[in-house]
Amino acid sequence: MIIFGTRSREIRPKQATSYDCDNCNSKGTVNFIFLAKYLHIFWIPVLPLSKKGISQCSHCKQVRYQNEMTPKMKQDCATASATAKRPITHYFGLFLIGFLFCLIVFNIFKNSANKAEYLASPKINDVYEVKENDLYTLYKISEIKGDTLVFKMHNKAVERSSGLFDLKKNFKNDYSNDVIKMDKNWLKTMSDKGYIMGVNRE
Ligand SMILES: [Zn+2]
Repeated sequence: MIIFGTRSREIRPKQATSYDCDNCNSKGTVNFIFLAKYLHIFWIPVLPLSKKGISQCSHCKQVRYQNEMTPKMKQDCATASATAKRPITHYFGLFLIGFLFCLIVFNIFKNSANKAEYLASPKINDVYEVKENDLYTLYKISEIKGDTLVFKMHNKAVERSSGLFDLKKNFKNDYSNDVIKMDKNWLKTMSDKGYIMGVNRE
């Protein structure tokens, strides 16, 4: 099964000079054709690769590559290349990567905006993503007394911050009954120092 590979598509330039064929002597039958190569995954074009110009006689089918062209033909070929545009679909993968990148950047901004807002006005059941020593875990607000927040600590800790996703999803209610109290200003300092990775609110 072919998952990915390269393919070429023939593109005819919109404007180009025609030549007489010196092989079959037909008049004006030699034209440029461009082979636009692209990378495909499951036959969906994702990335444009090279674009090569060749000439072909429509009568005798003789093909000439660029290294076999006269200097004048080579120059015309380069000019014609600008009018042989590849289909926009060849850029599909690039658009997708750009889109995903924007989505990630947007989420980073949104998370950091949420974190600042939730830290400033905490609510019961807010879940804090906390870095402790070299481990990551969750703290959940169980009580708010003025500027003091009472947290329940999660029973599990993970080695990577990405593992917190699993704790939030599969061990949602696995919090200990032991509590830890923290002052709002202290939390702000912890956050500035990078010990609070994020704050989640449902
Ligand atoms: Zn010919």
